[in-house]
Amino acid sequence: MLADLHSHTNLSDGTLSPDELVQRAISRELDYLAITDHDSIDAFDQISELPKDCGLSLLSGVEISTLWESHEIHIVGIGLDRKNPSLISLLKDQQQLRRERAEQMDMQLQKAGVCGLMSYLDQQACTAISRNHVADFLIANGVARNKEQAFKRHLNNKGRFGAKAHWCSMAKAIDTIHEAGGISILAHPNRYRMGNKKIRLLVQEFARVNGEAMEVSYSNLDPNGVAHMADIAVLNDLWASTGSDFHTPRNQWMDLGKFRQLPPQCIERAVWHHPRWPGARL
Ligand code: AMP
Ligand code: MN
Ligand code: MN
Ligand code: MN
Repeated sequence: MLADLHSHTNLSDGTLSPDELVQRAISRELDYLAITDHDSIDAFDQISELPKDCGLSLLSGVEISTLWESHEIHIVGIGLDRKNPSLISLLKDQQQLRRERAEQMDMQLQKAGVCGLMSYLDQQACTAISRNHVADFLIANGVARNKEQAFKRHLNNKGRFGAKAHWCSMAKAIDTIHEAGGISILAHPNRYRMGNKKIRLLVQEFARVNGEAMEVSYSNLDPNGVAHMADIAVLNDLWASTGSDFHTPRNQWMDLGKFRQLPPQCIERAVWHHPRWPGARL
């Protein structure tokens, strides 16, 4: 079973259109692909009908930015009813927060003599503005040499052009995903610049507010990392998910389906055995 349950299109900060992403998933022989753009479910509406017998099943999804103890925590939801009013309303608010954050960055940039961020963003295909787009703008204007530098020097919270957004709480994101009939998944738990002790507290809190699953295997996570995540999932009685967090074919380490299989202690708790696994409804 190859289920990539975390991926992005150009409706948020990926580079492929929804159809291009689906084509890549077919050629990489995935069984399941969940499209989980940042704070947007719009990609799904743009997908053409899948070729018959292509072997791929598509799941709707989203990756919601939340705040927990001043950390930005990402909650993935899969198998969503995209017409659910609570979901639509939350994502509209989140997209507005993204725009307001970009406007704050634009003001800082203008003070430094760099103009045109908002018109650059309006030319993009995205419905959810990301710092990734701002990083591209900084590179195009010679402010940063590459993405790494753009984020490190300029776009993190303490960076020169950084700005905070007051994302919703983890509980709000999880409740909304459940209202829309989806499964909630804590994304990439070791990517939040926290020590192991804090990661454990985060997962405990996620489970306490009814989160159901966590990513156990994902791109760039070595076997020790996967085993560590698997232990934490078991300890908190969470379902185990897998996903690449694919953004672009230019990053070969985060390609679709490129992650290790779930370790033995997690096979029974793989999220595709969840009673509300959306694949069963397809
Ligand atoms: P946002 O959700 O708008 O705050 O943007 C965060 C996104 O930027 C993440 O989802 C990544 O895709 C990307 N990102 C964050 N840090 C880096 C980095 N150091 N280098 C490249 N991309 C990054
Ligand atoms: Mn991203
Ligand atoms: Mn993320
Ligand atoms: Mn992601």
